[in-house]
Order: sequence, then structure tokens, then C-alpha cells
Amino acid sequence: MTYQRANLTSALVTKRTDWNDSLFSITLHSPSTQFQAGQFTKLGLFDENGKIIKRAYSIITHPEQHQATGELEFLIISDPRGQLSPLLHSLQVGEQVLVGTEGTGTMTLEEIPVDSRDLWMISSGTGIGPFICLLNDKKIGLRFNHLVLVHAVRHRKDLTYTNIIQSLEKQYPGKLIYIPVISRETHPNALSGRVPQLLDSGELERTAGISLDREKSFVYLCGNPQMVKDTSNSLKNIGLEKHLRRKPGQFASENYW
Ligand SMILES: Cc1cc2nc3c(=O)[nH]c(=O)nc-3n(C[C@H](O)[C@H](O)[C@H](O)COP(=O)(O)OP(=O)(O)OC[C@H]3O[C@@H](n4cnc5c(N)ncnc54)[C@H](O)[C@@H]3O)c2cc1C
Repeated sequence: MTYQRANLTSALVTKRTDWNDSLFSITLHSPSTQFQAGQFTKLGLFDENGKIIKRAYSIITHPEQHQATGELEFLIISDPRGQLSPLLHSLQVGEQVLVGTEGTGTMTLEEIPVDSRDLWMISSGTGIGPFICLLNDKKIGLRFNHLVLVHAVRHRKDLTYTNIIQSLEKQYPGKLIYIPVISRETHPNALSGRVPQLLDSGELERTAGISLDREKSFVYLCGNPQMVKDTSNSLKNIGLEKHLRRKPGQFASENYW
């Protein structure tokens, strides 16, 4: 069945990866979706009354990769209390889903002020998705001196795309600094605790080996709204300001709920 209405089109699920019981990635064949690296689009399914349930999901695939393959990948967590995510979780290869024909969102490379030299990408949970997409942009390595990718999760099993991150570290030696942060377990290769406290104590900057400052840093925050709010306050405490198009600053964010 094909479907096209309200900026949605039907797409075939071509691949799925299960990271753990509730966290998964799906790849769709959707050659017509137009987007920029860092943006999100809608995914949707019909409910039992024939009504479309749709929600926003960040695109993992870089636009150049999409152009070559027609495929779009999404990283999703199923919330058993939610309406759409459990339905997406039950999708199998060969089934259809509705997908947006356009990307939306301002967490793109173009929005970052031109004088920024170090890009910090601070994510929680599935919020790492748009940063994997941005890191696959060839311009990013030329434009920035340092790329700091922070991924905050509860458990080690929630750390996703580590293979891709390892190959990106080889692509950007000494430039890409990956810092996993785990809140409910200790692990020798990850920081323990929560991002705002690790910023307040200076541990995040010490681990990155570079400082956060107004002259050279730009920070994108993505994921859990509490993490975004508390981390924004920590950034303000060290003198960084929220970025607005009419008044350039040093950090911007995307809340997932
Ligand atoms: C701009 C934007 C981009 C987004 N990108 C993604 C993405 O790439 N991957 C993704 O899984 N979700 C993403 N979301 C969240 C997504 O749109 C849905 O809200 C989510 O899948 C829950 O939908 P639902 O219908 O199952 O639950 P709903 O009935 O809408 O219930 C929402 C509840 O689910 C929880 N929740 C929502 N999103 C998450 C999440 N990502 N992690 C943990 N808890 C969550 C919150 O407690 C929230 O109150 C994004 C949201 C926005 C606004």
C-alpha cells in the first residue's frame, strides 16, 4: 500500500537493529525525503481507528548517504506507556511505515556561528542520533579544531553506534573526543554521574582536555529536557549564552519531549 498526504509518504522497513530490549534502529527506503544533516522528520502509523499517530524522530543518515542509497535510519526507544513508539518497536523488515517528506529543525552546521572552533555535542539517550549524522558531514572536520561527543545514558547497554564512533575517531584522530557518561553503573571507559554535575565540577572539560569558553566553543544539547535544562544552567554559570539567530550565543538545544 502506498500513501501520500500531509507531508507523509509510505516507506518500507529495510533493516532493524536491536541494541537492547527497548532500544532499536530502523532503516527505511524513502528516497524522496529532503533534509539537512542534524534535522528530524515525522514517522507515523495508523491506529485501529484508521487515524495517523505521528511523532518526530531525528535522522541518523547523512544526506549524501541518503542520496546514494535512498535509505533513512532512525534510533528509537520504545516507551511502553507511549502511543507510537511500541508500534514502531514491533515493525519488521518488509513492513510499511509513514515517513515525512521533509526534514525540520535548526540543529545544523549552518546555524553555528562562523567563529566557533570547538563543537561540543552533548546528548542523552536517543539524542545522540543527530550528532552521528553531523559527524558524517565532511565539512565538520575542516571547520572545527575539536569535536566533543558526550553521550549520557543510564546503563552501558544503552551506548549506541560505538562502532561508527570508533571509525569516526580514526577519521578525526585527536580531533574527535568521545565521552560516554553512565549514571547507574560504573565503567572504566566512561564517566559516572550526570552531565550538569560533571560540568560544574570541571570533570567534563578535564576529560575532554579542552576548556569551554565564549571565544571558541559552541555547544549543541539534545535529548531529555531535564538534562537540557540543567546543562543549560551549568553552561550559563560558566559564562556561555543561549544562541539566537538575532543574538548569537554559544549553545542551542533540542528537547525530545
Ligand atoms: C525534535 C524531536 C526529535 C525526536 N527524536 C527522537 C529520536 O530520534 N528517537 C526517539 O526515540 N525519540 C525521539 N523523539 C521523541 C518522539 O517524538 C516521541 O515522543 C517518542 O517516541 C514517544 O512517543 P510515544 O507516542 O510512544 O509516546 P507519547 O505517548 O508521546 O509519550 C511521551 C513520553 O515518552 C517519553 N519519551 C519520549 N521520547 C523519549 C525518548 N527519546 N527517550 C526516552 N523517553 C522518551 C517521555 O516520558 C514522554 O513524556 C523526538 C522528539 C522531538 C520533539
